[in-house]
Amino acid sequence: MNMPNTDALEKLCRSCQKPLKGRADKKFCDDFCRNQYNNSMKSGPEKLIRSINAILRKNRKILQEQLKLTEKTIAVHRDKLRLSGFQFKYITSQYQTKKGLTYFFCYDYGYLLLENDWLLVVRKK
Ligand SMILES: [Zn+2]
Repeated sequence: MNMPNTDALEKLCRSCQKPLKGRADKKFCDDFCRNQYNNSMKSGPEKLIRSINAILRKNRKILQEQLKLTEKTIAVHRDKLRLSGFQFKYITSQYQTKKGLTYFFCYDYGYLLLENDWLLVVRKK
């Protein structure tokens, strides 16, 4: 027995997690596993996770667009973001300054609440 050790390269079926045999680009054991996997992606927690990821990505893109012209910060009215499709309840993190101001972030872009429904859009450095 002088088999090369391929354990580290062994690929697992995305559906049942069993080791795959055969072609290197195989992702599933068979059609059954493929269908199981595709169905699980269409419903349940995977669907929820993907839809929230899409909202966060869109929120980030909207914030990014506000800063397109100025690379610094910009004051934007809440309604402008909302009309662009920004969903305020979805953020990835928040940061509180020593002065007690709270920044809300979607990845590397974020905002600070100002008075009268204005926001200061910022980018993490
Ligand atoms: Zn499988």
